[in-house]
Order: sequence, then C-alpha cells, then structure tokens
Amino acid sequence: MGGYGSGRKTDLQTTEDALSIDIRNWQRDGLLANETSFTCRWSKRGKVIKRVKVTIEPELARISYDNAIKEKQTYSIKLQTTNCHYGGKRYWFSCPASDCNKRTALLYLHNHYFACRECHKLSYPSQREPDWDRAARQVDKIREKLNWEPGFLNGNGCKPKGMHWKTFKRLQSAHDTYAGTSIAAISNYIN
Ligand SMILES: [Zn+2]
Repeated sequence: MGGYGSGRKTDLQTTEDALSIDIRNWQRDGLLANETSFTCRWSKRGKVIKRVKVTIEPELARISYDNAIKEKQTYSIKLQTTNCHYGGKRYWFSCPASDCNKRTALLYLHNHYFACRECHKLSYPSQREPDWDRAARQVDKIREKLNWEPGFLNGNGCKPKGMHWKTFKRLQSAHDTYAGTSIAAISNYIN
C-alpha cells in the first residue's frame, strides 16, 4: 500500500465524513472468535452504499470490498490485544498504512483504504469548533448542574441546596477552569 499523506486535497475533513470500522463493536458483538466471517454495511437513505466483508483469523482481520472505482480491495489488518485491569483482554487494530502500525480502535475508509485518523489526517468534528465555544459549552453544562444562570459572565452563584460541598467545590473549580479557557481563547483571537 502507500500513497497516504501525499498531500492530496479532498473535501474530507473530519472523522464524521468517513466510513469507519470500530473493533470495540466487533468485540462487544462477539465477532472476534477465530474464523468468523461477517459483513459490515453502511447505508444512506435506506440504500446500502458500502459492504466490507471481514474474516477473522488468529491475530488478523482479512477484509475485502469494492472501492469507489469498483476495484476489489483485499488485505489484512493485524490485530493486537492488551490486558484489561480486571481481567480479560481488549482488542485493537494495527493501522495497516505503511510504517504506521498504530494501535487504534477505529479505522477510517478514505482514498480506497482503511487507516487510522492520523494517517488520513482527519480531525474530530469538535475541532472545527472554536476553542471558546467548546469551553463555553462546558461552562454552561456545569452551570446547569449548579442551577446557575447560563453564561459565565453572570458570575458564580451559590451551592445548590442538598449538594455535597465536595461535589460543589469540584464543579466550581471545573467551571472556573473552563471559564478561564474560554476567556483566554477569546482574547487570543482578539489580539
Ligand atoms: Zn495510521
């Protein structure tokens, strides 16, 4: 394979714009037993737009699908496991792009191949949103829990009745941190 990161410009920017496979779902659905085969399907407005056939073998997933120009793509994705804290193991994909091999739960289909988010240079949708919006949203989420009026410019309120002081202090300090981030991001932008 190869051809990743060649600087080709496309409209694809975020992880939401790409089809993805998530090994956590496969594990949850018990699909990782040796020699299982299954098909992943994606549809748009009730029509199947992509089918990927997967066969699990020891430590790898063989996948096959037709790409956008109707060529058959068949290759293997290595699987890795890590031990969980409380026993059992967790599965990961090894990113199949050349020289990557990064351990990841998600692979995205783009330019005819599955690879990790970094190889495809995809951002998370929230990264398109300005920092202060994100921080201000967090602030308001916390203010709601505290029964405070939305918007940090309204200042800090009191501890709601029945809330433990410990909880209150934790929320208040998270609130102040996010409010600070929001202010810093805005003044960064203005300057
Ligand atoms: Zn990668």
